[in-house]
Amino acid sequence: MTLLDGWGRCTGGRAEVRGPLDRQALRALVASRPAHGLLARGAGCSYGDAAQNTGGLVLAPATEPGITVDAGGGTVRAAGSATFAEILARTVPRGLLLPVLPGTARLTLGGAVAADVHGKNQRTDGSLAAWLDSVELLDGNGRLHLLTPDREEFRATVGGMGLTGLVLAATVRLIPITGTRLRVTTRRAADLDALLAELDAARSRYAVAWIDTTATGAALGRGVVDLGDHLDEPDDRDEPDDLDGLDGLDDRGRLDDWGGLDGLEYAPARARRAPRLPFCPFIPPTARAFNSLWYHRAPRERTAVQQLPAFFHRLDAVRDWNRALGPRGFLQYQFAVPDGAHGLIAEVLTALGAVGAAPFLGTVKRFGPASGCPLSFPLPGWSLAVDLPRGGRRLHAVLDRLDRRVADAGGRIYLAKDARLGRPAFDAMYGPLTDWRATRARLDPDGTMRSDLGRRLGLCR
Ligand SMILES: Cc1cc2nc3c(=O)[nH]c(=O)nc-3n(C[C@H](O)[C@H](O)[C@H](O)COP(=O)(O)OP(=O)(O)OC[C@H]3O[C@@H](n4cnc5c(N)ncnc54)[C@H](O)[C@@H]3O)c2cc1C
Repeated sequence: MTLLDGWGRCTGGRAEVRGPLDRQALRALVASRPAHGLLARGAGCSYGDAAQNTGGLVLAPATEPGITVDAGGGTVRAAGSATFAEILARTVPRGLLLPVLPGTARLTLGGAVAADVHGKNQRTDGSLAAWLDSVELLDGNGRLHLLTPDREEFRATVGGMGLTGLVLAATVRLIPITGTRLRVTTRRAADLDALLAELDAARSRYAVAWIDTTATGAALGRGVVDLGDHLDEPDDRDEPDDLDGLDGLDDRGRLDDWGGLDGLEYAPARARRAPRLPFCPFIPPTARAFNSLWYHRAPRERTAVQQLPAFFHRLDAVRDWNRALGPRGFLQYQFAVPDGAHGLIAEVLTALGAVGAAPFLGTVKRFGPASGCPLSFPLPGWSLAVDLPRGGRRLHAVLDRLDRRVADAGGRIYLAKDARLGRPAFDAMYGPLTDWRATRARLDPDGTMRSDLGRRLGLCR
């Protein structure tokens, strides 16, 4: 038995780990209906217990690797175990980019399908579901399906947190790019109203705000908004490695002095490894100092050029940064609420401050239309994600109360980030899921696919 944990390192449980296996071996394994259930695990980037099946079997990874780019058709077909970094390394040189890029490139395509992940462009481009041509699923009966978006089984699987079967592969439509650089406008916002107004007015393809999770009074909700668009100039062979902060744009926003065009490359800098700390560095005063420093170091307003990894995957610059947050681990509280319920953002920040929670990292996104997949997270409105030390009973009582407030507002918690939501609040957020449960019962009548998260939320036994 191997100890598996979530990214937040506070949900650990032991399971028998196997994989990767070829299709035939996977079919035989699923058809044997392992007594304590089976689950596919990707890169373990979900924060809680979504990728755990304590006491049972976990395939980590389930599938052999494999990536095929159809440059002419603008698609990539990749195995469920292929990471976004591996896929980008193959597609970017052909001028094609994955259309949805979460805050890490370490996740796998299987994990991305299972969580219906979103990026900084959810408002303009939707979540991954909108870009999937097909998903190849091995269901709980051991049957293979090629699922297309018109199928109920597709909608149950995308966002379905691995509980309908194993995603063997998926085909994703890509977006064309002529270079690997983005024009990024960074603007400070002095309070929450200003921050939300910036995001609301944003017309860039990508928009996200880092929010000071500790500011209070008139500064509550201050932060820094990043608006990004692809540059339509090809890359320069001699460009500097780190373009962060480099101003090189003429007044039409075009690069004015970079010629010498060359092929494209997805080239993240070599990541440094975070130390394993024996304590959590964040208590209220250090969380305040960290946030204040970040806010004051940000430019009031600046337009600069950034490379893909710097803009999309800044956190990947430090490997295993979750280890530096102490042995007790940490939580991420990410919720989405409909338009008009944005007051929940201030309410959550205030409640966390009042209980001494030391939230140290927060982001706000403006969301557009939902994908139509019943367990998918994004809904039209606003999303706040806050990282905070794991805390004790008092914090959890506050989070339970906030869950109810989010549910009452018509909102929901993101399952890929969750480690603690209770069944009643989950039901209030996602509804009875009658169709999803019926589809899962067809795909997995014996309930072979199981996870700790699924058991906690009543999605499996
Ligand atoms: C630093 C960081 C930033 C992040 N930023 C974002 C963000 O901006 N937007 C966003 O949407 N998410 C974000 N996430 C969350 C992450 O995208 C999701 O948790 C994603 O599901 C992780 O993929 P994974 O490969 O690590 O899967 P795991 O965490 O290993 O598993 C997640 C779920 O996928 C299922 N699964 C994995 N592989 C398969 C498969 N082959 N077949 C069937 N089911 C499978 C598992 O059973 C589990 O239920 C972030 C996570 C981190 C650590």
